[in-house]
Amino acid sequence: MGVNTFDAVIIGSGAAGGAVAYMLTRAGLDVALIEKGRLLRREDFTKDELAYCRRDIVTPNLFDEYHIIEMRQNGRWVATPTYESGWSFWNGNIVGGSSNLMSGMFHRMHPVDFRLKSAFGAVKGANVVDWPIGYEDLEPYYTLAETLVGISGKFSPHPMEPPRFTPDFPYPPTRENRIVKRFDAACRHLGYTPLVTPRAILSKDQGRRHGCYYSNFCGSYGCGSGAKGSSREAFIVPALATGKLTLLSTTHVTRLLADKHKVYAAEAVDTLTRKPLRFEAEIFVVAAQAHESVRLLFNSANRYHPLGLGNHSKQLGKNLLFSGGGFGTGELHRDVLGDAMFEAMMEPGWFINRSLLDWYIVNDSWHGRFKGGLIEWMFEHQNIIARALKETRDDSGKLVWGEALAKKLQRRFCDHKTLRFEIFNDWLPTDECYISVDTAYTDTYGMPVGKLRIANHPQDIRVGRFLAQKCERLLKTMGARRIRSVVNGLPAQNLIAGGCRFGDDPNTSVLDRECKVHGIRNLYVADASFMPTGGSVPYTWTIYANALRVGEIIAKQMRRL
Ligand SMILES: Cc1cc2nc3c(=O)[nH]c(=O)nc-3n(C[C@H](O)[C@H](O)[C@H](O)COP(=O)(O)OP(=O)(O)OC[C@H]3O[C@@H](n4cnc5c(N)ncnc54)[C@H](O)[C@@H]3O)c2cc1C
Ligand code: SF4
Repeated sequence: MGVNTFDAVIIGSGAAGGAVAYMLTRAGLDVALIEKGRLLRREDFTKDELAYCRRDIVTPNLFDEYHIIEMRQNGRWVATPTYESGWSFWNGNIVGGSSNLMSGMFHRMHPVDFRLKSAFGAVKGANVVDWPIGYEDLEPYYTLAETLVGISGKFSPHPMEPPRFTPDFPYPPTRENRIVKRFDAACRHLGYTPLVTPRAILSKDQGRRHGCYYSNFCGSYGCGSGAKGSSREAFIVPALATGKLTLLSTTHVTRLLADKHKVYAAEAVDTLTRKPLRFEAEIFVVAAQAHESVRLLFNSANRYHPLGLGNHSKQLGKNLLFSGGGFGTGELHRDVLGDAMFEAMMEPGWFINRSLLDWYIVNDSWHGRFKGGLIEWMFEHQNIIARALKETRDDSGKLVWGEALAKKLQRRFCDHKTLRFEIFNDWLPTDECYISVDTAYTDTYGMPVGKLRIANHPQDIRVGRFLAQKCERLLKTMGARRIRSVVNGLPAQNLIAGGCRFGDDPNTSVLDRECKVHGIRNLYVADASFMPTGGSVPYTWTIYANALRVGEIIAKQMRRL
């Protein structure tokens, strides 16, 4: 077995891993960034729907590597392997991780998200706690991420906007479809405040990265121009340029070896040759995406840590979070919009880029005071096959074909465009939502796979439905038809957090406030698993910010060694 020695070993090269690697290499440390997936460069990406959305080109084959998903059905827990359901909880397993494939709708968490319990009190059946750090601790790193990742936007003062200590975004907003005028007018009519969505997308060239060329296929696809602020573009390429980074793709870490207070090696396997590998370092950082980081800590159990690394308090895997909420749609037709607006709307490429924060905190005499959420607006995903498949049945559920199908497809693609909203509200942490491993289920490398028990709190659904009603009203005001919304408690599997909650009390948390595992002096966890509550925004800006913070902490610690 080959042994390789570094100052720091980082496991997982996604949003979190790349940001930590950037900070450590800039501090002059020798770093290994270990990634189970392949390296796909900018020029390798295509807009091939079959490859990216229907086959396993950027994620493992589910028969080789899978998850067990446990959900309640008719009052009992039913466990289903994802190779049976086809419901993949892999999100992007290539160098740069899922951040290559994100849509880049970026939001900071709000000050209130850091002290949810203090602000709203305990919620029955939920394990809500305050964070050990506050918004002001993360703000400088949100700002740093803005510049390094390249976030485009336009700051408008709004009572619900989190405060910023710099006046505006470093890049102007990305371009907007003309239908946005109608959207804004409808908002104003209803007293809503439309805000420009910050995007982790360059609106103009910056160094070796080009501005967005509005390819029409952003989320779920890699970016051929370098505009998207993936971990690969924003952090890994610059880290490689320092000469201090060793990037190891197709290398799957299976176990960490630790004595009582220190990790001393990571065991891995070369996924192409199946050759075993071993890496030694002063510092180890796990950044494999929340559920997989937890799995690795469980699978690293040994005689000093019989329940898994960091599981002294039996909190490992607990309080798994997803982004709560739901979505909805409405169709915009020519007869309502008029020819000019309709033709402009049908132009491919430019974004909607609007979000609503009016109900981030709800406080009115009718509903009382409660934590609400964010609403994000966009066109429905432009994938051709996915859209065509929605037309294969008539209203009674019967298959249609031939002339009838052709007419339906014609209508789908030429008669209207579908506007979509996505709701982000808290997925409250509960005892019924957690990750474990089970030796009965192993992957192709012989390691137990992650078992995710998924349930949400009834409050999540109540908030989601409240917000969906506001959105339906807006779609109606715009003149949309076939308005519908879905708020059903199913998880968004691309937005996963929790499982290694951070806190000051080692009896109730896995990590300390610096994201170091309590009791193990050289093991950090840098992805969203640290989050005790998830806020009501998508996580990735917070992941980037916190990983930059953790990277800085580690660099300081290394200087002291
Ligand atoms: C289609 C899509 C759209 C999205 N849109 C948005 C959006 O608009 N806004 C937003 O905020 N977020 C969005 N996201 C979510 C965002 O991509 C994730 O929040 C973010 O990438 C998570 O960062 P991470 O570092 O935890 O995990 P990842 O970025 O997924 O990286 C984890 C990496 O670790 C590797 N790994 C795992 N286990 C091992 C192991 N044992 N050994 C070696 N390597 C390992 C994985 O292969 C992966 O590359 C989207 C995601 C997807 C898939
Ligand atoms: S060019 Fe623009 S729209 Fe296309 S993938 Fe890149 S960032 Fe997204």
